[in-house]
This record gives sequence, structure tokens and C-alpha cells, in this order.
Amino acid sequence: MGEKCVALKFQVVPVTPYEQNCTVLWCDETLKAAVVDPGGDLDRVLAVCKKHGVQVEKILLTHPHIDHAGAAATLAEKLGVPIEGPQKADLFWIQGLPQQSVMMRFPPAKLFTPDRWLEDGDQVSVGNVVFDVIHCPGHTPGHVVFYQPDAKLALVGDVLFNGSIGRTDFPLGNFESLVHSIRQKLFPLGDDIAFIPGHGPMSTFGHERKTNPFVSDRRG
Ligand SMILES: [Zn+2]
Repeated sequence: MGEKCVALKFQVVPVTPYEQNCTVLWCDETLKAAVVDPGGDLDRVLAVCKKHGVQVEKILLTHPHIDHAGAAATLAEKLGVPIEGPQKADLFWIQGLPQQSVMMRFPPAKLFTPDRWLEDGDQVSVGNVVFDVIHCPGHTPGHVVFYQPDAKLALVGDVLFNGSIGRTDFPLGNFESLVHSIRQKLFPLGDDIAFIPGHGPMSTFGHERKTNPFVSDRRG
């Protein structure tokens, strides 16, 4: 007892024409995995699972934009696994997935109902690894972030990027909420926390506090 379990491993798989960072996460003790934000290109996602010999036990969603969730229902059906997340304020985005797929010229996206809606303070498990759920509205009203304290890793979807922040010009997007989410809920986790954004390269909260033009400490 007292030993921290840092059995978390991951591989990022950029998917869709938007190069969305779908992430295969797994527990190295049990080889149970989660696919976070399967927007598309399932053949490549499943090839990564196969390469590492892991068994997908669930799908986690940060938010249901088409590039993050377009293939969630298809993957859930194919593997017989549940979908957990996002927070229920994003229901209208899930209901809009078929329209999103037409507008963004994506393959048809199936509707689904998450097997579990997530709330701030909830936890989700992948094998023996437990993630904290942090509700971070602003990009979408029900956007959630997955945070693993021992591994010092967060999956932040389209909340925060290396050098930028998520768009807030969508329905129920809110710039002030987004900045509040980042500064009051994510940055206090620590400068040394690495994060996988929904798009582009990884970074740390400390790096963004120093350099991000939207949310750096200097911006006040
Ligand atoms: Zn998005």
C-alpha cells in the first residue's frame, strides 16, 4: 500500500481531416483500454489497440463535436462497449451529429445515448487507472476533461491547446466560461501537468501559463 499506481500508457492517433487527437489509453497492469474521442478512422484506432495487445473496455468522450465523436456509436456497437461522457448539457450536440456529419462532409454519424453522463467530480476507470472528471464548459457547455493525478496527465479535448484555446463561437459557447475553466479548474492542478489537446502537440499547464496569448498569467 502507499505505492502510486502509474500504470497508465497511451498513444495518440490523429483522426479525421481535422487531425483530432483520438487517444488510446490503457492500464499496463490489466491491458484494459479506453478510446478517448473516436472521431473517425476506426481502422487505424483499432490497429493501435491490436499493436499494443490491449482490450478496449469503454469509450470516453470529452465533447460530441463530429471530429471527436463521429465514430463513437459505431465503435461502441462493434466492440460492445459503453460510452461514458460528456456532461449532459452537450445532449444537443449529440442529437446534432447527423447534421454535423453532412455539413462537415464526414461519413454518416450514428446517434447514441451515453451509457453514463459525467459530472464534475466523477471518476472514470480504465483497468486499475482512475481518472478525475472535470467539467470545463465554454467550448461546449458539457465539455469534460479527464485527469490522472499520479501520471500527471490530462486529456483536455478542445478546451486548451498548445498556444491557443478552443473556439467559443458555437451555440452556447462562452469565452468567459472557457477562460474561467482553464484558469480556475485546470491551471491549479499544477504547472507540471502534461496535457493532450484535441488538436496539435502536447504541452504542460505551466508552459501555457507562461506563453499562451489567451490565458497566460501575464494577460491578467
Ligand atoms: Zn470541439
